[in-house]
Amino acid sequence: MINMTTTEIMDRKMLLNGEWVSRNEYMEIRDPQDGKLVGTVPLANLDDVEIALEAAVHGSERARSMPIHQRISILRKAAEELENRVEAFARVIALEGIKTIREARKEVVRCVETLRISSEEARRIKGETIPFDQFPGSENKVGYYLREPVGIILAITPFNDPLNLVAHKIGPAIAGGNAIILKPHEETPLCALMLAEVLMNAGLPEGVLQVITGIGSEIGEKLVTDPRVRMVSFTGGRLTGERIIKMAGLKKVSMELGSNAPTIIMNDADLDLAVPSCVSGAFWAAGQNCLHVQRLLVHSDIYDLFKERFITLSSSYQVGDKLDENTDMGPLINEEAAKRVEKSVDEALTNGANLLMGGIRNGNFYAPTLLENGHNTRLSYEEIYGPVTIIESFTNFEDAINRANSVDYGLQAAIFTRNLETAFKGMADLNVGAVMINESTDYRIDAMPFGGTKGSGLGREGVSFTLMEMTEPKVACFNI
Ligand code: NAP
Repeated sequence: MINMTTTEIMDRKMLLNGEWVSRNEYMEIRDPQDGKLVGTVPLANLDDVEIALEAAVHGSERARSMPIHQRISILRKAAEELENRVEAFARVIALEGIKTIREARKEVVRCVETLRISSEEARRIKGETIPFDQFPGSENKVGYYLREPVGIILAITPFNDPLNLVAHKIGPAIAGGNAIILKPHEETPLCALMLAEVLMNAGLPEGVLQVITGIGSEIGEKLVTDPRVRMVSFTGGRLTGERIIKMAGLKKVSMELGSNAPTIIMNDADLDLAVPSCVSGAFWAAGQNCLHVQRLLVHSDIYDLFKERFITLSSSYQVGDKLDENTDMGPLINEEAAKRVEKSVDEALTNGANLLMGGIRNGNFYAPTLLENGHNTRLSYEEIYGPVTIIESFTNFEDAINRANSVDYGLQAAIFTRNLETAFKGMADLNVGAVMINESTDYRIDAMPFGGTKGSGLGREGVSFTLMEMTEPKVACFNI
């Protein structure tokens, strides 16, 4: 059992072919807030990729032959163990990644839920009978279809939710009887390896899960293009996703990509509800969140009031040490990311935006930032992936919807209103994967279908929906 203090270094092995292995070459995992060494993991090379693929072929046979009760039992046990170790996991998430300890605890609790739902959904993998006699000449045929595992699934994950987004792939993959090769983000592999250990302790057979720690641009292509891999389940940036989809060839792909999420505040909105919800959604995980409240479209009648209350609440945000219980917001994942955010804000200011709050970089930290008049800048149509939000006013609801839809992303959108008609119109007209009413865009539960339109991706996650993607129908037809 890991019970880390801030000074302990975690030297972890990767999981290949049922064994925990180290390599002479390794990667250092550093705390993004101060550069302190948190741990090391092996630096996998192309030979390791071949070991993983070869082992996954055998793992896939073991996975598909696991009876459902065994899959349920493994996932349930893993959820229980994780539930008993929330604090240990939360500390690792907070140390290697960008989340504060309070944000990290919530992620672990969500991960327990994801594993638990996966165990429950395993028993619901069903087929149905097929009425063959609907077609003349088929009167003597009877049969059904069932769902079979896809085979070997490659899961590639990002840094912002380094535990739960891994579970969103591994949980349904195991429930569906698949083998999985996981390539976690190079900067946050530690909690993914800990989760793999929990699953192995829970009785997962060798080779069903492998975790390869390496650099995406070095080992990614061989993993993605190998024909033994039948599905690539990717969560990450749009450019990487597009590169992967071009490489993948004839296999299933699911793509959970970024966004530029709009939240519309109507003049009848409950501001006591809207302001804290939008502030939290703007600065959760320092804006490194695909559901980040990036654009606020506020009715002109309440624009000044909303703006003032948003700034007042955000100004009380404590930015700093992630392990401090009082900290509300941590750093960007690395200096390059912090400089990228700084550059985007500076560019917006040069192009006519006004700075209402923040706009300051301090090392890898960037202050909670609000801009107005940013509608002609890249911030209004690209994903910032940092703690920066732009606010603009509108008078006409149609116009707000058109502006919300004007970007090439469509993950989630939100409306605050007390008017049902407005809510239903927004629901109908916003071109996104989900519309939140009286909640910011930054809301999700792990059982709901999750994914976007346009540049936000392809397919849906959310355990039962992932399970559909990770299994495929097989028909049995009897000529009697
Ligand atoms: P990223 O840079 O695209 O990296 C994601 C993963 O792809 C990492 O594991 C990375 O490995 C790997 N990768 C990079 N190049 C690769 C290649 N050529 N072949 C195979 N794999 C490769 O994204 P990120 O910075 O971690 O995450 C930020 C993005 O994820 C944002 O756009 C955010 O909105 C999106 N996101 C979406 C969702 C969703 O559910 N829709 C959830 C969370 C985040 P290395 O780390 O080794 O480079």
